[in-house]
Amino acid sequence: MPLAKSEDGHRLDLYLMKADNSIRICVPVCEQSLGGAEVAIAKAAEIGDIIEVRLDCLDPVQLAGSFRNGEHLFDQSPSPTILTFRPAEQGGHRQLDTKARLFFWLFNRPTSAEFLDIELDLAINSTVFDYGKKVDWTRVICSHHNFVGVPGDLDRVFDRMIQTPARILKIAFRAGDITDCITAFQLLDRARSESREMIAIAMGTAGIATRVLGPCRGAFLTYGALETESATAPGQVTARELRTVYRIDRISRETRIMGLAGLPVTHSISPYMLNAAFESAEFDGVYLPLEVRDISSFVTRMVHPRTREIDWNFLGLSVTAPHKTSVMSCLDWIDPAAEEIGAVNTVLVRGLELHGFNTDADAFISPLVSRIGELREARCAVIGAGGAASAAVWSLRQKGAEVTVFARDANKARLLAERFDSTWKPLDSALFEGFDVVVNATPLGTSGTQETETPATAAQLSGARLAYDLVYNPVETRFLREARDAGCELIGGLEMLVTQAAEQFRLWTAMEAPAEVMPDAAMRALGISGRISE
Ligand code: NAP
Repeated sequence: MPLAKSEDGHRLDLYLMKADNSIRICVPVCEQSLGGAEVAIAKAAEIGDIIEVRLDCLDPVQLAGSFRNGEHLFDQSPSPTILTFRPAEQGGHRQLDTKARLFFWLFNRPTSAEFLDIELDLAINSTVFDYGKKVDWTRVICSHHNFVGVPGDLDRVFDRMIQTPARILKIAFRAGDITDCITAFQLLDRARSESREMIAIAMGTAGIATRVLGPCRGAFLTYGALETESATAPGQVTARELRTVYRIDRISRETRIMGLAGLPVTHSISPYMLNAAFESAEFDGVYLPLEVRDISSFVTRMVHPRTREIDWNFLGLSVTAPHKTSVMSCLDWIDPAAEEIGAVNTVLVRGLELHGFNTDADAFISPLVSRIGELREARCAVIGAGGAASAAVWSLRQKGAEVTVFARDANKARLLAERFDSTWKPLDSALFEGFDVVVNATPLGTSGTQETETPATAAQLSGARLAYDLVYNPVETRFLREARDAGCELIGGLEMLVTQAAEQFRLWTAMEAPAEVMPDAAMRALGISGRISE
């Protein structure tokens, strides 16, 4: 339903939202045709609080030479709008010289948008706009974008921005590393200390935290894409995910922050599982994908309570490849089992210390015990010699199983086997006849470029009893299909994933994970239905 408009034609609800400090998700619309833009605006209004209409995306021929012909897009929008006319060098869709941009803003723009996004290079000459009172600066967002990295002259950019009369300042830059999020958060703090409103975004997958947490740290708004494919900037998550997965409307400065540190992390379904569990348990926490290249610098600058440079109520980490071993040197205390395994996949902030745990090992063994029962003297093959393989071999040995490690790198296979008093063999032309359990602890078969691969064929698996794939996406991997053809019993990786996440939930919140919520969320995220154990 269209919002009420004030006498000067602007939708009032935006200001009401501002008064009660509500979060604002802005959905950008970047369409080539007027018809496409109308449809997208209607959809955007269903999920966003405010819509950015990117007129630089529109085909100029459709507008018959006058952008005022796009007026009805703004007039008809059910939600408040931001009008943007971005030149290519600031991330826009067309080459626009300064003259063309000034002509647009002074004489040719639609007039019914609530906000105008004007780039710094124009806004800094604000007196030009004062001619005939062409711009109401209380409705201007003064913006600057850098798609390469953190601007070398960031302080100068900020200083120039605060010289403009624009009500809101916006700086968006490409995050090369997760620690660049600190810069975006500090910009928000600085704007607050200067009594200015601000939007500060670290673009790219390493900057997702700034998109989710920006509003609770004082950002005027955050941007959320209409669909994944229609994202207008790198790392932009969808508006629907901001609302339903990250529950952005409920995040405050008191919300506890957790996340998955790894590289890559954006494919992970852990945010779906853990955020659903927090919601169900009414725990005030949010779980983020944290794309980390250098774990030591990340922990020092953003996680460890004694050294972190931002105050962000951080509670814990899941750790995935390639950091499960390297994270150990950043911790104050490590659980003895994790120490023996040589890998930590869970970090808990306890007081001023960081404590490390491994929830993979127990999560790996429990589905196996429930299928096979007694594992003492069972003959088990573990394929792979990385972090997951270490947890698998350790827990199998704890149960008294006999383990043989198979890996493409003979040296790594030997080292892993020796650590746990096991044997090893090269993976090339391995035969698994006579094994009770064959575990795939490599990424072969994972959705994406490796999906069609398998560490063993049906012929190699013939005569084995049970095949256990730690890969969980897709749920049915090629390894499992080969094993079924060979007549093996099967276990997929989803059960282990959910079990290890439930233990992480318990470590962070001191509550039991809500039983059905995580498997259901995992299956929804993977687009499947039915219970995992079926
Ligand atoms: P990792 O530490 O990187 O180890 C991967 C292992 O796979 C290494 O031994 C690696 O050998 C081997 N490998 C990689 N590509 C290979 C190939 N083309 N052919 C043969 N071997 C190959 O990774 P990780 O943490 O152990 O994880 C392994 C898999 O388990 C991943 O798919 C992960 O998603 C899955 N996992 C699942 C769960 C769960 O809860 N279901 C938990 C943990 C892990 P090199 O050392 O020679 O490269």
